[in-house]
Amino acid sequence: HAVVHWFKMDLRTTDNRALALAHAKARDAGVPLICLYVLSPQDFEAHLTAPVRVDFMLRSLAVLKRDLARLDIPLWIERVEKRRQVPARVAALMEAWEARHLFANIEYEVDELRREAGLVKLLAEKGVAFELVHDTCIVPPGQLTTGAGKQYAVYTPWFRSWVKHVHENPELLELAEPVGRNEPGVREGRFKELFEYEIPLAPEGKRLGEEERKRFAALWPAGEHEAKKRLEKFCEEDIGAYGERRNLPSVPGTSNISVHFASGTMSSRTAVRTARNRNKTKRLDGGVEGIQKWISEVAWRDFYKHVLVHWPYVCMNKPFKPEYSNIEWSYNRDHFDAWTQGRTGFPIVDAAMRQLAGMGWMHNRCRMIVASFLAKDLLLDWRMGERFFMEHLIDGDFASNNGGWGFAASVGVDPQPYFRIFNPLLQSEKFDPDGEYIHKWVPELKGVMGKAIHDPYGRGAGALAKKGGYPEQIVEHKGARERALAAYKRGIENG
Ligand code: FAD
Repeated sequence: HAVVHWFKMDLRTTDNRALALAHAKARDAGVPLICLYVLSPQDFEAHLTAPVRVDFMLRSLAVLKRDLARLDIPLWIERVEKRRQVPARVAALMEAWEARHLFANIEYEVDELRREAGLVKLLAEKGVAFELVHDTCIVPPGQLTTGAGKQYAVYTPWFRSWVKHVHENPELLELAEPVGRNEPGVREGRFKELFEYEIPLAPEGKRLGEEERKRFAALWPAGEHEAKKRLEKFCEEDIGAYGERRNLPSVPGTSNISVHFASGTMSSRTAVRTARNRNKTKRLDGGVEGIQKWISEVAWRDFYKHVLVHWPYVCMNKPFKPEYSNIEWSYNRDHFDAWTQGRTGFPIVDAAMRQLAGMGWMHNRCRMIVASFLAKDLLLDWRMGERFFMEHLIDGDFASNNGGWGFAASVGVDPQPYFRIFNPLLQSEKFDPDGEYIHKWVPELKGVMGKAIHDPYGRGAGALAKKGGYPEQIVEHKGARERALAAYKRGIENG
């Protein structure tokens, strides 16, 4: 017999709830622990997983495989072409390994829940227990309700309730039990071949070129040890000033931890516990402002997952607010291409879109600016932007991405009101006052200095911008704003 842990978006050995339970079960039963990862190319396609993200996961799997092997625990990677075949294949492996217990952390997206429901049934027929564990959120979905017993749809009262709940249930932040060794014999015995293979290449269509692979590996070192280093450095150097610096895209004022949450190389529990412990009060609220603010940002991640669990239709291309279903979006291909390629003529928007292409990541302030620009200035269907982000982000996470787009396009949960439309030029002046961020990503504007950097053609630097080959604005903000207001209003009236 054996016990199996199935890794999904939890690619770490530290502070991993299901893995800890699987380990304890195997130890108590005196049987080996085997770890499994299912690589489904069709899943990557269906979920628009960015090639940079697939690459990051494969690099993280290499670290995980090595760490587990040191504990004489194999990590087997099973490639399953069609995702519908995943449950049957997992069941077949359980049988081949004579395993009676399967453990995994829950993923809350609709496809994954359906897959798991199928697998629970299939395994039960074969007498195999399948235990699914809450791990990715700090507070499991469903625990927090309003006075009327409903799911919160507004962040601020939800967050107050989240803080209270964690204070009242301190075990929610407790470190999961570390994973111990298998019997050394496992390496030589019947599971020997599970140790002896190379990490596979990314499936075709999701594979990076050689230059990109090197570049992203240097930018985003993978695996849980790197995640831990990054968190410690952030807590040591930057968390105190997080409140003041988090909105400035030209300074490294944020943690850059999202990539690790998305692949599970860092647990959000570990992150919040570590930050909290640096607060003298040892509380989630109060104490150092930067720490408090950062924890409240990590909580947004929980918030959007709770929303997804409660209103699963957001997974099905529907806006959270049904009354916003009738807005007549534009599908102007030239506008969309200019946006994706960073050629809109709005320097802050173009810098941000090029940061996404260059790093697989974009600063949060800029995500809000470009999303608002797409949905409002261009009146393009926000789902085109949501999709493009997923296809390119290294930290792509369905709930946070969908939540962020819903916020910016005013169709989501607790959104920006539709009539509040970011002015990209004012945003640029406010958050990139010296144009440092723009200069870094838009080389055509080299030499454009002072306020002209935010709007070179409108502010007397047109000749220089033209010489550099910088495009002119594809829309005029004031007119675009009026058009958006009218379209939203009409949509809501018809909704
Ligand atoms: P920090 O500022 O250090 O924040 C710490 C952590 O808090 C982040 O790692 C993240 O887990 C969480 N967090 C912060 N802000 C948010 C937020 N608004 N919503 C949810 N969680 C948050 N985040 C993703 O992880 N994946 C996505 O696919 C994603 N898409 C987004 C799309 C749009 C349109 C917008 C506006 C935001 C999106 N975000 C997404 C949220 C946010 O931009 C990133 O989490 C953040 O920029 C990551 O950088 P960081 O780790 O340095 O953040």
